[in-house]
Amino acid sequence: MTTAETVAPQGLSAAADVPTGVHIDGAWSDPGRSFEVTDPATGLVIARMADAGADETRAALDAAVRAQQDWAHWAPRARADLFHHAHALLRERRERFARVMTAESGKPLSESRAEFDLSAGFFLWYAEQITHLHGTWAHGSNGGYRVVTTHQPVGPCLLITPWNFPLLMSARKAGAALAAGCTVVMKTAQETPLTGALFTQTLVDAGFPAGVVNLLHTTRSATVSETALADRRLRKISFTGSTGVGSLLLQQAAPNVVNASMELGGDGPFLVLDDADVDLAVEHALICKFRNAGQACVAANRIILHEAIADEFTEKFVAGARELRVGNGFDEATEVGPIISGRQRDRVVDLVDRFRGIGADVLTGGRPAPGDGYFYEPTVMALASRDHELCTEELFAPLAALYRVASVREALDFANDTTYGLAAYLFTRDLDRAVSIAEHLEFGMVGINRGIMADPVASFGGVKASGLGREGGPDGIHEFLEPKYLAITVDESKDGLR
Ligand code: NAD
Repeated sequence: MTTAETVAPQGLSAAADVPTGVHIDGAWSDPGRSFEVTDPATGLVIARMADAGADETRAALDAAVRAQQDWAHWAPRARADLFHHAHALLRERRERFARVMTAESGKPLSESRAEFDLSAGFFLWYAEQITHLHGTWAHGSNGGYRVVTTHQPVGPCLLITPWNFPLLMSARKAGAALAAGCTVVMKTAQETPLTGALFTQTLVDAGFPAGVVNLLHTTRSATVSETALADRRLRKISFTGSTGVGSLLLQQAAPNVVNASMELGGDGPFLVLDDADVDLAVEHALICKFRNAGQACVAANRIILHEAIADEFTEKFVAGARELRVGNGFDEATEVGPIISGRQRDRVVDLVDRFRGIGADVLTGGRPAPGDGYFYEPTVMALASRDHELCTEELFAPLAALYRVASVREALDFANDTTYGLAAYLFTRDLDRAVSIAEHLEFGMVGINRGIMADPVASFGGVKASGLGREGGPDGIHEFLEPKYLAITVDESKDGLR
């Protein structure tokens, strides 16, 4: 394990030339209060950021409202050209983004680079949609008029993002909103504000006009969201985070009937059937579980194994988990970085204690890993029973829970027995079974013989308590557009043809 002394300069230098103010109406400013950003691999403070409150929120919304009309009326080609320029500038800064993400989130550099590539891919996907947003033309049901349907930007948006994929979440939301012609106020997570600041700086450098892109970071998230949602001029909230906070924001959005998209928590079942390619399932389960130290909404939360392959899978999966290199993300050999904070690591320690309390057999890991940061060993637990509410809690940790079932019926019932409905995974060699079982899984996304879901061309999102709406794919941009139709009287007798 790398020591804090040798890695501190890397985290600090990554953070060094990123703006630390809030960005409002085309300018960086400092409200005079600040908060610290910590590198979770070392526990060292790497930056001090401006701490926004109600005044900055109102100012950012004022700017977004002022810029809205003009931005909405930019010609599609001009907006697309600006997006392509911003995409090129983002790509030039790939390594800088990767280092900033690793510094503040702790994820290994390889994962930061992969997140960058996916994020840039989303931005490009939206850029390509801008000039392809067409409406429809129809004859009125009883003749005498025509119906022209078009799409208009919903208006100024508040975008709230979590810390676990700081660039992906910002680029996926802001890309769609801006492409649709909306102006935005982004509110990034307190743990990872630097990535959002570098993203905003890049859009500003590319030439996005003043007021179109505004950025707040804060220790008082509730103040920001309450202030913005109480203002009738805000027309949309797009949130990614926990179901609890999402539900609270929906309540705050209700009085003004603010349009809302919610990407919330998950409890992904990972089903491995009796005819599965076990080696493939193990390979994907390791990624799906331990990527980002398990802190992913689409992570494999319950690994459900048919008894025919359970022993073989368990043996190979445990061996794979033991081989994962835990360490500082700046070490290129690292495969699993730290947990985001001391508080979150304490939660994981408590979670494992609670699992032990219900009879979980810890097969590997089960304790914090050494180091100055918030490391935890990749952990695998086998559970004989699933009859406890803990078994359907979102783990959000490098903690794999294995369950055995005797039939597909049992596997499916357990998979669906959750309030969540984000991503599910299914491993089988039989395509007929795969399609049929996937159709019975109550989830927004099903990975068949693969444990990685995100792709710009796919409509990402969940059902039930996992959210409302989709990001990416053909649907993503429409979350920020509203249909509008014009009914046009046409007196056909005037054409002189009849
Ligand atoms: P969180 O809900 O605590 O925080 C998410 C964001 O909301 C952060 O910016 C935070 O500062 C802000 N926030 C917190 N309390 C708030 C309040 N009262 N009012 C307004 N904003 C508030 O979630 P987290 O712990 O940062 O992230 C983990 C959760 O996010 C997990 O449940 C995970 O599944 C979910 N998530 C979902 C997706 C998805 O696409 N569905 C993606 C990533 C993470």
